[in-house]
Amino acid sequence: MGYSLFKIIHLKDNFKRQFKAFVGTLGSAVSRGDKITFADNDITYALKLQHDRLSEKGFAMEYELTDRDTERDAIVGSEWKDTRYESYVCNEQYNVRRKITKNGKKLFADKKRSILYTTITDVISGVHPDDETVTCPNCGSVSTIAQIQGGCPYCGTQYKMDDLFPKITSYYFLEDVGMAGNEGKKGMAAFIVITILALFAIDIVYNFGKLSSGDLGPLLTLIPLLPLGAILGYFIYSIYLIVRLIAVGSSQSSGKWGTIGSRSKFEQRMKAISPLFSYEYFASKAISLIKTSVFSPNEQELLFYKGAALDPVFKDIIDMNYGGALGLAGFKEENGRVTVATDAFFDVLHAQGDRIVPKKEKYRAIFQRRVDIPIDPNFSMTKIQCPSCGGSFNAVQNKMCPFCGTAYDIESQDWVLLSLKKAK
Ligand SMILES: [Zn+2]
Ligand SMILES: [Zn+2]
Repeated sequence: MGYSLFKIIHLKDNFKRQFKAFVGTLGSAVSRGDKITFADNDITYALKLQHDRLSEKGFAMEYELTDRDTERDAIVGSEWKDTRYESYVCNEQYNVRRKITKNGKKLFADKKRSILYTTITDVISGVHPDDETVTCPNCGSVSTIAQIQGGCPYCGTQYKMDDLFPKITSYYFLEDVGMAGNEGKKGMAAFIVITILALFAIDIVYNFGKLSSGDLGPLLTLIPLLPLGAILGYFIYSIYLIVRLIAVGSSQSSGKWGTIGSRSKFEQRMKAISPLFSYEYFASKAISLIKTSVFSPNEQELLFYKGAALDPVFKDIIDMNYGGALGLAGFKEENGRVTVATDAFFDVLHAQGDRIVPKKEKYRAIFQRRVDIPIDPNFSMTKIQCPSCGGSFNAVQNKMCPFCGTAYDIESQDWVLLSLKKAK
């Protein structure tokens, strides 16, 4: 457990395949609403809701990831193991290009050199029940657990089930101040060429009188400008890199320093209460719950959301990227429940009418979970059935029965979101 500072660790081959499949489908999941591959249930649902939000507002969003250095594979930055899960946090350099249009008219576009951080989580038990067969209690047909994830393929009966690991449980982008592959060389070459051309132009303007009267002698003065331009271009490029490092670095870390140490503080307090607690699991869950609540058309229908209606300004958000920092703002244990206040940083796009505004925001999110019942480390799956009419539906996404309207509010054994507000 811990950071690997000295040794470069590559992902295991099967994880590498899953990672590539995930990255390969992320863009089309946002822009076309296609199904994302190898993401956990929470990420999959949040992406679907985001696509619905974009469509409902009449926006089309192109979202494209391109590998900045195809020679380099995803590298494991840190790995974490607890009693239940093992997680690999890996990083890989991508360009992220976004373009938002409405009725063919471009409203917003950007392209950022980024690092994609993903968490790949697996169960350490080594038990992967994907191919185990189950008999649907409703219609009696036999399916594998993987097949009934979205409901029984024969009768549609829904099951509430744990994720089938390994899965990508979290992902986010941070703008990169560094260079990947030959970006540095290319950037420098461009600066040198532009500097030489600029010096040439100045020289020609300066000697324009002589040149236009047919005296071509001053053209010789262009020659020493080549090495001079190269050196000058190199210097200007170096200054540009330093300015960029400071500008991107400070905008990225603004306000986030206070979150340092939050992880270990929180981990210590939780483990004392619940030894199976996993910080990686919590952090991934927290980010997904925030995104799902923001993108949901009605968060109060979500099984895990127990708060008041969100400020309508959240419903203007059409894209959100976790900023890589989660601070602990409060912790309370009471009546068999732990309540945790967190400050989460996000880079979001607000749609104010047809105006798209990028913002860096900090949210105060309060989560709660029961700690009086032990966490079940085994795979669990339950049939969901309306107590009133017997109908089966996905209760995670809708806590009212769509057939008869009865509230189906099973108390979640997992983290629930109690409140989400913009922090000052
Ligand atoms: Zn069935
Ligand atoms: Zn019902």
